[in-house]
Amino acid sequence: MKKLALHWQILIGMALGVVFGVIMASFEQGKDLVQDWVKPFGTMFINALKLIAVPLILGSLIKGVSDLKDISKLSKMGGKTILTYVVTTVVAVTIGLVFVNLINPGNSITESTRQDLVSNYTESTQKYKDEAIKQQDKGPLQALEDLIPDNIIGASSENKNMLQVIFFAIFFGIGLILIPEEKSKVVKDFFDGFNDVILKMIDLIMLAAPIGVFALLAALVVESPSVDLFKALSWYALTVVLGLSSMIAFYILMVYIITRKKPTFFLRGISPAQLLAFSTSSSAATLPVTMERVNEHLGVEKEVASFVLPVGATVNMDGTSLYQAVAAVFIAQAFGMDLTLGTQLGIIVTATLASIGSAAVPGAGMVMLVIVLAQAGIPEAGLALIFAVDRPLDMCRTIVNVTGDAAVSMVIAKSERKLGEPEVMNWDDNYKH
Ligand code: ASP
Repeated sequence: MKKLALHWQILIGMALGVVFGVIMASFEQGKDLVQDWVKPFGTMFINALKLIAVPLILGSLIKGVSDLKDISKLSKMGGKTILTYVVTTVVAVTIGLVFVNLINPGNSITESTRQDLVSNYTESTQKYKDEAIKQQDKGPLQALEDLIPDNIIGASSENKNMLQVIFFAIFFGIGLILIPEEKSKVVKDFFDGFNDVILKMIDLIMLAAPIGVFALLAALVVESPSVDLFKALSWYALTVVLGLSSMIAFYILMVYIITRKKPTFFLRGISPAQLLAFSTSSSAATLPVTMERVNEHLGVEKEVASFVLPVGATVNMDGTSLYQAVAAVFIAQAFGMDLTLGTQLGIIVTATLASIGSAAVPGAGMVMLVIVLAQAGIPEAGLALIFAVDRPLDMCRTIVNVTGDAAVSMVIAKSERKLGEPEVMNWDDNYKH
């Protein structure tokens, strides 16, 4: 019997998870049962993916950088990558601002709904505000200072410190380029084998993906707030989703124009990573799968994928920046504020920076939104307005974050002449290892 393609397996897992969650939510004990007996399988699945992130970055980036053989190539590729990331983020924020100004979702919120939402959710948003205050207290060069770890074991022990691990791996790779070939060969061979082991581990984890996403979605459904609140915020949610969909269309077009690869090729290649991004709400947890798909199914050579994707997972969050722009203007509209063009242009800058500073984990975009609101003079209390629908929108924006990284990696690979034919051409043959 032909094996079902991975994205179908994951989709079926997700659908069954939602149905199971809805059924269980209708029983009195259902929520507890799901939380005690189903949710842990989802957590185990996410943990297994996160477990792979640091060794994957270390191994593949060291190998990738040392394969470039030339430091000037690395800095050229680095410059191009960062520039492309900034451009796509600015496009995302602009799309968000256009949609929110056209649709005006804030006007659909009545005074009483606004008061209800603020009184229901102010407490829940406090932890986001506290976290944002910590970020705001940092000096202007803190981000640069944080880039360099004082201890590599310490840095690798926290997934939050992904950029520090990336810094170490690039630095190590540069050292490897600079020593004589007969000495570096053994180290490179080691990392080559090491990478294969890690890729094999990802294959094994992905065997459990349908069960993992089933558990994650079942738990989300039983824990979600009442449907009435979703209704009140439906225009806002629709605006975000429309903006995010336009961003996906933008990537497809960008990939087609620059690499001549068809939309179906791109989407089929990246879809398992997108589904995982949706189920986990974390680009960091999805990174191992994104790397494997981009390399094996989209034809981006390892030297490029191993550099562009980990950097992208930490700094390029187009979905997050788009959402921050829409949310900021929505809150202003709901509070009856009129934002000037100048303030909205300011949002382009702050949302771009805030998305770069957001961690690749669930809910991180909301923490940095506090800073966007503060800069634009919009009341922070507005966070409570959007809290109820934040998780589903987080799931959607994470898809865009991951898709953006994959699209940019194809563009950079094309410009570096490192976009080949994918290793896996048969879609049913999900993994070759
Ligand atoms: N969950 C998002 C990600 O991991 C970040 C966010 O927007 O909250 O990419």
